[in-house]
Amino acid sequence: MIAKKNRLLIITVVYWFLLVYIVSAMVWWFIALEKQNKLMIDYKLSELVSTDPSYNTKRLDLLAEKRRKSTIYISEGITFLALIFSVSAFVYRAVRRQITLQEQQENFMMAITHELKTPIAIAKLNLETLQKHQLDEGRRQKLLQITLQETNRLNNLASNILVSAQLESGKYFVKEELNFSDLLKSCLNDFVSRLPDRTWNINITPDTELPGDPLLLQIMANNLLENAVKYSPAGSAIGCSLAPENGYPVLVISDEGSGIPPSEKKRIFKKFYRIGSEQTRSAKGTGLGLYLCKKIADDHKAKITVENNFPSGSKFIVRFDKQL
Ligand code: ADP
Repeated sequence: MIAKKNRLLIITVVYWFLLVYIVSAMVWWFIALEKQNKLMIDYKLSELVSTDPSYNTKRLDLLAEKRRKSTIYISEGITFLALIFSVSAFVYRAVRRQITLQEQQENFMMAITHELKTPIAIAKLNLETLQKHQLDEGRRQKLLQITLQETNRLNNLASNILVSAQLESGKYFVKEELNFSDLLKSCLNDFVSRLPDRTWNINITPDTELPGDPLLLQIMANNLLENAVKYSPAGSAIGCSLAPENGYPVLVISDEGSGIPPSEKKRIFKKFYRIGSEQTRSAKGTGLGLYLCKKIADDHKAKITVENNFPSGSKFIVRFDKQL
């Protein structure tokens, strides 16, 4: 982490040093040319003979030449400066973006290693316990439920990784007329039975027909619901509604968590982006969920946005406002 910060610092210092050096060289070049121009014209003026009948015309010509040259130097200088500033801004942004992406990829690798190993370790331990010990029915069921939860998590993670790779390569989109209400209800059933201690405010207009890919829409709904669970306190309410607005379906998933700061509202849809740092984050994750949701929404000509929920938390809205 420190090495990475140092690298960014070194790049920034070298960059600003080079930029200041180039701009100073240009300013120096401009002053030198201006001086030379003045000296040349002064010399030519001193060569003029005041008794010459065309003295005044020649003098005015020389002064006009001096002004013309100054104008050329100034406009060339401004053009070069503008060019240097725009190219350096472009390079700076590109380098910063590259470094940020690299950092996020490294974070992703760290997170995914943990996310893959934990459920496997838990499932293995639970199965070994079941194999070695004669447990009473209650404990047996508890261990089986935890194992199932962990395999579900693993399954979601695997789907997210595989589907993002497939969507990025431009493949994977089966368009079929489907009942989005039923699909959503089936996702919600899983969540409600897994998390019965939550208050679930569900309001789904039946038989909402939509052209789309059932697997992708299921992944999108699962990711939004999983985030609502993950980023809000245990026992708090989660809302899920599907209703038409101007004739087009609108999906809203809301929670009563800490919400998302305004400056992060756009960034959270970027690949691997997670709010905070790996050290300060308590919730597990990879930063792929919302990126995938946005990609799936785009592929369905839908628009995904996030707003503040009242009195607290966030509200993810997916507007399917165009026909496919
Ligand atoms: P992950 O949850 O794996 O970190 P996501 O792409 O699903 O990745 O989300 C990106 C980031 O957006 C999360 O790290 C989290 O900080 C923030 N976020 C997502 N959903 C919510 C939510 N419902 N409430 C608060 N923050 C959220």
